[in-house]
Amino acid sequence: MDSRAAALVRTTFKAVAAEEAGPEEVAGSFFAILFSAQPQLREFFPASLDTQRERLVSALAHVVDRLEEPDELLPFLAQLGRDHRKFGIAPEHYPAVGKSLITAVRAHARTELWTEEVEHAWQECITLITRTMIVGAQDCGTPAVWTGTVVEHHRVLDDLAVVRVRLDQPMRYAAGQYLSVQVPSRLRMWRYLSPAGPSNAEGEIEFHVRARTGGWVSPALVGHTAVGDQWLLSAPMGGLGIPRNTRRKLLMIGYGTGIAPLRAQLVAMARRRSNPRVHLFVGGHHPCDLYDLVTLSELAAANKWLTVTPIVESEENPWWYFDSGDPTPDLPGLDPRRTGQIGAVVAGYGPWADRDVQISGSPSMVQTTKFRLMAAGTPAVNIRHDPLF
Ligand SMILES: Cc1cc2nc3c(=O)[nH]c(=O)nc-3n(C[C@H](O)[C@H](O)[C@H](O)COP(=O)(O)OP(=O)(O)OC[C@H]3O[C@@H](n4cnc5c(N)ncnc54)[C@H](O)[C@@H]3O)c2cc1C
Repeated sequence: MDSRAAALVRTTFKAVAAEEAGPEEVAGSFFAILFSAQPQLREFFPASLDTQRERLVSALAHVVDRLEEPDELLPFLAQLGRDHRKFGIAPEHYPAVGKSLITAVRAHARTELWTEEVEHAWQECITLITRTMIVGAQDCGTPAVWTGTVVEHHRVLDDLAVVRVRLDQPMRYAAGQYLSVQVPSRLRMWRYLSPAGPSNAEGEIEFHVRARTGGWVSPALVGHTAVGDQWLLSAPMGGLGIPRNTRRKLLMIGYGTGIAPLRAQLVAMARRRSNPRVHLFVGGHHPCDLYDLVTLSELAAANKWLTVTPIVESEENPWWYFDSGDPTPDLPGLDPRRTGQIGAVVAGYGPWADRDVQISGSPSMVQTTKFRLMAAGTPAVNIRHDPLF
């Protein structure tokens, strides 16, 4: 899109998002308009549309911010198209989706803002989105979904489980990508998870899942998954991954289960001959939240290019945590554990201006850490993270 059209779309989107009703109302209107035009699409979605509304808003925000960055935007939209096949969305549904979206944005925009030029800019934007998604879905040559059987479920903490799934057919994904899963007890409630290891010929995938308080799906994944359960998994997505340039140093920052996509890349890198220096900061609230330190310590001890620094916000474990002890001090290959807020601790090391940076964790952790690094002098263009869905 040209700069003017992109600016018009961005400005209207931000203006609508800033209105009292907020962007979630726009998303609510979008679904209402879509389902009244195409009632058969309703059954693709879960009863509660809260998560869908949040995701639509985040995805739109991600897209409108990148309208002038085709190298980032087009692969993202193509992946989104591939991913949407899991809902049963087909090319013939896209015109109604596009039309409903423009109608919803227009309905929430102030009349003086919605000029003919703005309408054209939005038409162009929606055409770009829907065309790229359709082509992405058609050209990929991969299944819409894979079936995976749970072969291991290990409750590492009260609210955290490691789940291993064996797929019916291998899936090729780049270490660092994510995909969405649907479990039998939560039909149509797809959730994104990041494989914690690279893809393999056996089709085994390891996931690290944290149960979020009040969440629809993650408590079930952690608390009620059983060996033999059949999961559905969609096509892999995401732009995190090992950079081709093996000489540029990397900074990786992972918090909680956000370590998974970084761990997958480190395991893949450990199999290569030559790697740049990597400094990984792994964070958790309590020492027990650093649940995967043994693997990270083994990786660091065996690979000279890797430095791992654990960070906790509190030196104490929570009262409910019973274990033989805190493993951090005795593990080889790790830098001494630091205490503090992860973004502040990492930014305290310097501007990291010569590094490619990856941040992985909850949306608020990613945003705060990015802000801290930028304030310390890290160029924003060097920082990558998954979309904050
Ligand atoms: C690219 C990507 C990769 C992800 N990878 C993993 C992974 O490997 N392991 C994993 O455990 N989770 C991962 N997530 C988060 C996961 O997809 C779900 O969002 C999370 O499990 C909550 O789902 P839920 O149904 O329990 O909560 P919902 O019912 O969807 O939401 C309940 C509440 O929790 C909040 N919430 C949702 N997600 C988060 C979050 N990540 N942090 C804090 N609060 C949140 C929501 O805003 C809402 O208020 C990933 C998310 C993305 C976007």
